[in-house]
Amino acid sequence: MYKEPRSNVTSWHAHELCRGCGSCIILERRSKYCPGKLRLDQLTLLDDLTWGPARNIVSFTGEDLTCQPEFYAEATKEIKSLGLDLWVLFETNGYGLTPSTLDLFKEAGLDSFWLDIKAYDDEVHRKLTGFK
Ligand code: SF4
Repeated sequence: MYKEPRSNVTSWHAHELCRGCGSCIILERRSKYCPGKLRLDQLTLLDDLTWGPARNIVSFTGEDLTCQPEFYAEATKEIKSLGLDLWVLFETNGYGLTPSTLDLFKEAGLDSFWLDIKAYDDEVHRKLTGFK
C-alpha cells in the first residue's frame, strides 16, 4: 500500500503517482507520460482497465452520498477506530454539503472532500447530470 500524506487525499493526487495506463505491466516499458514515481510491485489492477497504486485511502464515491450523512459519519468513525492509518475521502457534487453535514463529518474525523463539479455552465451541467 502506498502511504499518502493527508494533504494528498484526493483522486487528483493519485495521478501524480501513476496515470493508470498499464504500459509498464503490459508492454514492460513506461509510457512517456509516466511520472516514474512507483515501483512495479506498488501497482495493482484497480478495475477491469486501470492500473495504479493501492493508497491508504478509503473513498466514498458513486452518485451523491450526502443524502445519508449519518451513515458515512458512522462509517468514518468505524474506519478510524481500526487504527490502520487510513484516510477517509468523500466524493460529492457538493449538493448536500450543508453546514450541519460538514460539522458532522468533521466530528467523525473525515479527512478530505473531492468536489466533483461536472460543468461550470448551468445548461451543460443539467445535460450531464439532470440537475441544475
Ligand atoms: S507506473 Fe506504469 S501504469 Fe503507472 S503511469 Fe507509469 S507506466 Fe503507466
